[in-house]
Amino acid sequence: MKTPRLLSIVMPAHNEAMGIGHSVDAVRAQLEALGIPWEIIIVDDGSADETFRRIGEAAAEDARIKGLRLSRNFGKESALLAGLRAAGGDAVITLDADLQHPPALFPRLLDAWRAGAKVVDAIKRGRETDTPMARLRARLFNALVSRLGGINLREASDYKLLDREVVDIIATEIPERHRFYRGLCDWVGFEHDTIEFDVENRAVGEGKWTLLGLVELAMTATISFTSAPLRLVTILGAFTLIFGLLVATEALLGWFSGRAVSGFTTTIITLLILASTIMISLGIIGEYVAKIYDEIKLRPPYLVAGRIGLPSEAQGHAELPPAPRHEQPRQ
Ligand code: UDP
Ligand code: MG
Repeated sequence: MKTPRLLSIVMPAHNEAMGIGHSVDAVRAQLEALGIPWEIIIVDDGSADETFRRIGEAAAEDARIKGLRLSRNFGKESALLAGLRAAGGDAVITLDADLQHPPALFPRLLDAWRAGAKVVDAIKRGRETDTPMARLRARLFNALVSRLGGINLREASDYKLLDREVVDIIATEIPERHRFYRGLCDWVGFEHDTIEFDVENRAVGEGKWTLLGLVELAMTATISFTSAPLRLVTILGAFTLIFGLLVATEALLGWFSGRAVSGFTTTIITLLILASTIMISLGIIGEYVAKIYDEIKLRPPYLVAGRIGLPSEAQGHAELPPAPRHEQPRQ
């Protein structure tokens, strides 16, 4: 039977000092029961509390617990990436540090990997424990991104098991900076398997997603996976043209028949509709330009400020392809 030489657990943590010790204990208990070599990598995503100290305490007790501290809060996506790059296992499980992703699922994730899956997605069965508002938000988010982005999110979560092959692709071969982990895991292809789970209540503390944060993630997700909104601009333009032609015909007919065009109201309405259509279209194009600008700067997606039990490597840059050499002009 296929057994991983090493199983890595990656947990992004932002201001989780209160619960991180408890989470690590729960994860460790599950890992010990599996009876295979393991490591836990906790990425402190620029916490303002004692999270990194707690990681240090856990690591002092058990060298298989390792920590990475980002220089500031770069967001969960970057924290996940940092963790994936630091992970050395043949299989890597990513899960939240707040125990909302039950570690009890590890044996089933591993079984699916043993059966040949390269990506095992743990998908949320119900969101009964979420507030109705949070549920609505999540549903809207998934529907929007799935519809526009053409990627299958269903009730996808960031709780996944990835095979080394897929980890290497996501961690080093995909160079984009603005990432959407869930979407990328679907995009890479390979054999997938899914396991359903019930979202647990947060053990301590509160969820940190603000509505604005979710909207931003939805935009990144959509913009990095599809240019459909840009096509929407073209379609909007076509509609405006048809609308304009109709109104123009009506006005011209009126003029030729000696009827002066009445309708100051029509003018105002037309103007307002046109102006807002143009503004929204500019906004959509602007979002893409902004993303291109951010990507082109080639800044690393995160910076590392501290490590526990991990070798020091280059900052957030993956192995970038060598810079193109300029050919010497021939004499
Ligand atoms: N998280 C992070 N950086 C952030 C926000 C959150 O690393 O900027 C971590 C957080 O510590 C947790 C996971 O991402 O382990 C999920 O966050 P949260 O519980 O706030 O989100 P939700 O469960 O509502 O999706
Ligand atoms: Mg949570």
